[in-house]
Amino acid sequence: MAIDFDTIVNLSKKRGFVFQSSEIYGGLRSAYDYGPLGVALLRNVKAEWWRAMVQMRDDVVGIDSAILQASDVWVASGHVASFTDPLVECTSCNSRFRLDKLDDSEQCPTCGNRGTFTEPRQFNLMFQTHMGPVASEENVVYLRPETAQGIFINFENVRRTARLKLPFGIAQIGKAFRNEITPGQFVFRTREFEQMELEFFCHPDDAEEWFGYWLDERQRWYLDLGMSPDKLRLRRHDADELAHYAADTYDVEYEFPWGWDELEGIANRTDFDLKAHAERSGKDLRYYDQDADDRFFPYVIEPSGGATRTTFALLIDAYTTEEVGGEERVVLKLDKRLAPIKAAVLPLSKKPDLVEVTQKVADSLKPLWDVEVDVTQSIGRRYRRQDEIGTPYCVTIDFDSLEDQQVTVRDRDTMAQDRIAIDKVVEYLRDRL
Ligand code: ATP
Repeated sequence: MAIDFDTIVNLSKKRGFVFQSSEIYGGLRSAYDYGPLGVALLRNVKAEWWRAMVQMRDDVVGIDSAILQASDVWVASGHVASFTDPLVECTSCNSRFRLDKLDDSEQCPTCGNRGTFTEPRQFNLMFQTHMGPVASEENVVYLRPETAQGIFINFENVRRTARLKLPFGIAQIGKAFRNEITPGQFVFRTREFEQMELEFFCHPDDAEEWFGYWLDERQRWYLDLGMSPDKLRLRRHDADELAHYAADTYDVEYEFPWGWDELEGIANRTDFDLKAHAERSGKDLRYYDQDADDRFFPYVIEPSGGATRTTFALLIDAYTTEEVGGEERVVLKLDKRLAPIKAAVLPLSKKPDLVEVTQKVADSLKPLWDVEVDVTQSIGRRYRRQDEIGTPYCVTIDFDSLEDQQVTVRDRDTMAQDRIAIDKVVEYLRDRL
């Protein structure tokens, strides 16, 4: 089912996944805050990425580098000179656009006039500030526009201390900042966002093979998290689309409500970055292969995804409506690993003895999972709310529970209910979560 864009934005706001940044001041465009459910979902997405890309692998280690780096980093990487998008401005209504993202490069989407665009100007996307009390040319620093460079400049530190031999990867998750000309589509394109990047270093002769490997591997990751296969595809960049550092790139694309768009870029960055940093820093960043007695710059395959963008896509993909007993039921069919709340514990009424058992059950689950206790409203409405936020299990405590020490566990997807002894609930959920 195609879900429309407004529905998912409304759900995000209504249920506390995502809020507009600085909302009480009228909102700061293209910046968003993650609410209680949003932060849990985002953290779970990042945790799954880290698990697959670092924890489960023998050949990848992680780092967390600073957002602020020496300006030399961005000169060497080519970002100061070339990290630009073509900006055009409509001379009629003064709206600004990114030329390569316009459907019609002659017509202004805001006022509809034709032929009113200025000549394109290359606009650098890096946010710039100053380090220290004096704002001068010498102390300009940039907010990193990608996490990748923090990995390249630590290549030798990490290789040496972790005693790594090629091929190996260094992974990082963290904030990145781009002064996008046309942010939009909710959290899809924002000026502050989170990336999940792997730089995988290998011998230049093996780069093609690893490129293919990571194309497969990264698609598999999205599918394993339950993303619809028919909404996922790979698209190869045309030569004129390639970034300044890339020899070849594919995008993993998702079919968003507005059409196919990028989730992740997988690039063969060649030895561009290590070479550039070696040259500018004067440090030898070549790899020494002892067996072959050979010193060379490794090639780099980079799967670079967005944590915030992927979270948004997973939310869209999970949104489902179905008819139950003549009524519409909205269910977020999120993979259980991603669900913000794993179990809701619901007493049938607010009677103190039921609430007491509810709390006891919730306390037994809390050390293992994010759980929520909800004592408000009718049980039907509480089930609907939990379905809408993707909670896989609801544990209901009713009056019989006081007698038989049993509770009802309801499955989000099948709505089937099982009667379980209170002291078996942890085991029951552990088998299923
Ligand atoms: P585009 O051409 O759409 O501006 P890009 O190709 O420059 O994007 P990359 O540099 O490949 O993007 O960034 C890697 C990933 O980081 C993207 O696939 C996306 O998931 C994420 N990302 C990049 N820019 C943004 C942004 N402004 N907001 C949210 N996520 C972003």
